[in-house]
Amino acid sequence: MRIATYRHKNTRYVGCVSSDGLHLQAFDVSADIAYFGALRLLESVVAGDPWPSILSQQIAISDVQLEAPLPHPKRNIWCVGRNYHEHAKELSASVFKDSNSNTQAWPIVFTKVPECVIGPFDPVHLPGAHVSEQIDYEAELTVVIGKGGKNIKAADAMHHVFGYTIINDVTARDVQMRHQQWDMGKSFDTFCPMGPWLVTADALDGNHTHVRCFVNGVQRQDGPTENMIFDIPTLIETISRGITLFPGDIIATGTPAGVGMGLKPPSYLKAGDVVRVEIDGIGHIENRFV
Ligand code: MG
Repeated sequence: MRIATYRHKNTRYVGCVSSDGLHLQAFDVSADIAYFGALRLLESVVAGDPWPSILSQQIAISDVQLEAPLPHPKRNIWCVGRNYHEHAKELSASVFKDSNSNTQAWPIVFTKVPECVIGPFDPVHLPGAHVSEQIDYEAELTVVIGKGGKNIKAADAMHHVFGYTIINDVTARDVQMRHQQWDMGKSFDTFCPMGPWLVTADALDGNHTHVRCFVNGVQRQDGPTENMIFDIPTLIETISRGITLFPGDIIATGTPAGVGMGLKPPSYLKAGDVVRVEIDGIGHIENRFV
């Protein structure tokens, strides 16, 4: 199932995408529930409640504005740094230069604030040259947690995956490196385009799919998720060590090689650029930088 959050005539809905991808049917839920997109639905389904019924009226996707499937995450978005070998190499002289000593031992984990989430086709706002001149993209397969838990074992971890979506982990490289911790350089307003919907785990194997990124139509990133250094079960095991994961928690699993900082010379995003991220089995998001 593909669960989309969308706006139609100034009202937010959460609904199902038709199998041909052209229509939506809303779940019969209150505005208070729809406000949170798929979040309240997945919380109740995980708790054992039945799926809410679906209204019969179909609406064309072309007539709505798609929003992030989880437009208001309840806490920070977990993110993984340096999770593809070739990406680790391309930034080994900059972002990862202080973290090479124990390359394979543990993943780098940081967070983005939930307020930076925007819709799959919304504009990303460049913060201005006085704040950062090195804005970069990172295409990422993103896991949405279903059943929560603490100290989840890797062998059980896939049972905790509710589904998947796409995130562009937009990053201010200069700010990321300046502050030691990465949260600031990753959390500027609008720096987390998400969507176009949430694909439930029965419809996609996140361990075997493909992540691509295009800037102004030119392909920059192309990575199979089999190439992750730390696979999805390992990430869930690691992040849940001593920390309870909750239904609706979000884990961006890292980006393949080909980010702007890794190019020679580096190439950062500027006003007017359009970044498209696509993942097989999910779809694509596309955001203009303004
Ligand atoms: Mg990232």
